[in-house]
Amino acid sequence: MANLRDKLSDNAPGKFFVDSQCIDCDVCRDTSPANFRRNDENGYSYVYKQPETDEELELCEEAINACPVEAIGEAEENYGMFAATCFANR
Ligand code: SF4
Repeated sequence: MANLRDKLSDNAPGKFFVDSQCIDCDVCRDTSPANFRRNDENGYSYVYKQPETDEELELCEEAINACPVEAIGEAEENYGMFAATCFANR
């Protein structure tokens, strides 16, 4: 599962992000080319543009499921887990 703490700095601000686990396999760029791009210098993908249409949203969700190392995350999910952990520790 992607971790917000390891989020790459290139990601466009918003819901979706890629973290440092990315192995530069090209699956997300192929699945959702409008939203994912490659950092050629360092060899990884990042969210170039957050989804703006239902179709792009669907393709980003598809990219999450297709990423072989689970390097793509949705911020809301992580915030939810963070909150759950905080409350569990009270
Ligand atoms: S699918 Fe996952 S591992 Fe492959 S380039 Fe995209 S973020 Fe990186």
